[in-house]
Amino acid sequence: MVSHSSDEARGTLYIVATPIGNLEDFSARAINTLKGVGFIAAEDTRHTKRLLNHFGIETRLFSLHDHNERDKSSYIRELLFQGTSVALVSDAGTPLISDPGYHVVNHIRNEGFDVVPIPGPSALIAALCVSGLPTDQFFFSGFLPAKTKSRKDVMSSWKQQSGTVIFYESTHRIVESMKDVDAVYGDSAKLVLAREITKTFETFLSGTASEILQMFSEDANQLKGEFVVMLDYQVESDLDAKAAENRRILSLLLEELPVKQASQLAAKITGEKKNALYQIALEMQS
Ligand code: SAM
Repeated sequence: MVSHSSDEARGTLYIVATPIGNLEDFSARAINTLKGVGFIAAEDTRHTKRLLNHFGIETRLFSLHDHNERDKSSYIRELLFQGTSVALVSDAGTPLISDPGYHVVNHIRNEGFDVVPIPGPSALIAALCVSGLPTDQFFFSGFLPAKTKSRKDVMSSWKQQSGTVIFYESTHRIVESMKDVDAVYGDSAKLVLAREITKTFETFLSGTASEILQMFSEDANQLKGEFVVMLDYQVESDLDAKAAENRRILSLLLEELPVKQASQLAAKITGEKKNALYQIALEMQS
């Protein structure tokens, strides 16, 4: 693969983030980049045109969406080859994140052209950083399948993931999704729902799936708009489960027996060491 970074005659492909609601989140660099390129590839040209008009950006647009992405990759390659730079935007947020652009970036990078990010808003990062859920590891699951059976299968597979799980959901399916989370996780998952981030009715709800469903039934307004759903599954480790069981048995025996006999009997029942159980029994009684 050849890099053309030092070749003045080649254009650059810029991947430009746009606001997810609040227009003040559009960065100066994003605006200047869109003004400076020869063309803007946009998911929905009419939608992007309104944004461009607001910021006085007059650059020509062409459409790039899921159905023409592969064809448009060759067109973009041709433009770059001729020295014309191109910016790629989606309807909102960071392109390629549950949005078109993957095939273009893959193709253009493989052809050796420079692909430069102009970072900015993305709903998943905006939601995660205020959720209060673990941020050191997270798994982004994008949009979930439309059918309940496949959706539940995907949800079950998250049990193997560590960290916070994040997915995107629309107003049409949020109730169904919450019902499925409830069926798969019950109360073992804590959820945070970020709705209408950066917009007038920005709201954050947290609780178990059944608690969230209850909030929805009490206030139908909570169902409106766009959602980022974050899920923190508390796995009880085998060791934790065993320790809890030992304490449960000890506490039952201690109701009827003195510490020494209770721990001897608990050792016979659990197979644990008598002395260790004796110490735990003492702590439980203090
Ligand atoms: N590329 C975008 C990004 O960087 O976040 C995501 C595009 S995806 C097609 C649209 C989905 O993102 C929505 O259905 C919703 O789940 C989420 N989303 C986008 N904007 C949002 C907002 N302001 N508040 C909550 N969720 C949002």
